[in-house]
Amino acid sequence: LIRLYVGLVHYPVYNKNHERIASAITTFDLHDLSRLSKTYGVKRLYVITPLADQQELAGRVIEHWTTGYGATYNPNRKEALELIHVCGSIDDCVREVAEIEGERPLLISTDASMKRREVLGYSQAAAMVRAGRLIVLLFGTAWGLGEEVFDRADSFLDPVRTDTDYNHLSVRSAAAIILDRLAGGHPGGS
Ligand code: SAM
Repeated sequence: LIRLYVGLVHYPVYNKNHERIASAITTFDLHDLSRLSKTYGVKRLYVITPLADQQELAGRVIEHWTTGYGATYNPNRKEALELIHVCGSIDDCVREVAEIEGERPLLISTDASMKRREVLGYSQAAAMVRAGRLIVLLFGTAWGLGEEVFDRADSFLDPVRTDTDYNHLSVRSAAAIILDRLAGGHPGGS
């Protein structure tokens, strides 16, 4: 049984000028990442934003497809979007997971940057997932996670590397590659 939680972080992240901001919710992140999470047995997808209007927007999308007309129109979408929980901060997310599981989760952050030295490799991370380690895996939005997220994380996952110098995967694509490496081939982990 895998005990993997995913957090999509909208604060603290950087904008184009490397200023710390709270980014806006992208509704297709909610659709794609929730289906991805459901497919790979992620227990919850936390959408993390301190902005009340953005929390409300996420809440409206989720509600439409889980309780409104959309729930009967598209039940597969309902099942996926039900995994989403909106919360105000990474601390709140970690606290909620700890309450649900009765244990403090390991916080692992992801990053496109090749700079970091002490990274967690995929085979090691996949073994931890398979062993049922309680993990919260964080993904960034905008121009990436704020430095303080890396300071407080317990571990950083090795970036997805390619042979090109184009290093601009969308969070949806990066998350799909990473979840397949960590939880692929081990279904039934919900
Ligand atoms: N506006 C962009 C979008 O539409 O997705 C947001 C980009 S956001 C910075 C991309 C996030 O995906 C990163 O914070 C990280 O979590 C993940 N990511 C992207 N490229 C990655 C890579 N090569 N390795 C690991 N994670 C990566």
